[in-house]
Amino acid sequence: MSFMEPLLALQDVDTQIDELQKELHDIPIRRQQESARLQDAQERLSAAQAELRAFQTRVADFELQVKAVREQVAKLRQQQMTLKTNKEFRAMETEINNRLHEAEALEGQQIMAMDAVPPAQSRVDAAQERYGAEKAGMDAYVADLDSRLAQVKARLGVLEAERDAALKQVPQPHLRRYERLRNGRRPTVVPLKDGICGGCHLQQTAATRHLVQRKNALVACESCGRILYV
Ligand SMILES: [Zn+2]
Repeated sequence: MSFMEPLLALQDVDTQIDELQKELHDIPIRRQQESARLQDAQERLSAAQAELRAFQTRVADFELQVKAVREQVAKLRQQQMTLKTNKEFRAMETEINNRLHEAEALEGQQIMAMDAVPPAQSRVDAAQERYGAEKAGMDAYVADLDSRLAQVKARLGVLEAERDAALKQVPQPHLRRYERLRNGRRPTVVPLKDGICGGCHLQQTAATRHLVQRKNALVACESCGRILYV
């Protein structure tokens, strides 16, 4: 095993663990975002349904009013039969005609109110369809996320064991330096390529390049402090 190999092996495991832990952190957030989108579709559907109910109630209200006026007319006609004088009869006729006009006006309003119902029903249908599609999409997506979550957890378990094994190969002083650097600089161990640090891209001096080539001590980048290797 070469001088840098154990540390690079450890870093490789750590990088995989980092990525999986990020995924572990992100999956519940993605789930949450998805259910927020579904809630949005649900709210649109509820609003469309409430609008439809309001229009239907309006139609029903006009219908009741028309019925009430027509019943009044029927009563007035009965009363009209019992009247004795022509004057009273004509006065009643005028009253009845007024009521009939009222009923017609209300029927006109009822018809106008009915015109609003089919478009509102179409909006409910469209919202319902969209909700159904969103729900199906979400169910599939959440199922994917759940299975991915299970995979991530299983893989993390394997990697933790691999990390324990990799740790044992790294000399203690190297490990301490690596762990300390890792808090702020990832990747921590980077290649020195054409004399340039693979982390911060600063050109290293000839002395540093020479030390890295010797492969018998950990050499830090002159700028960012990352551990260099060739
Ligand atoms: Zn650097």
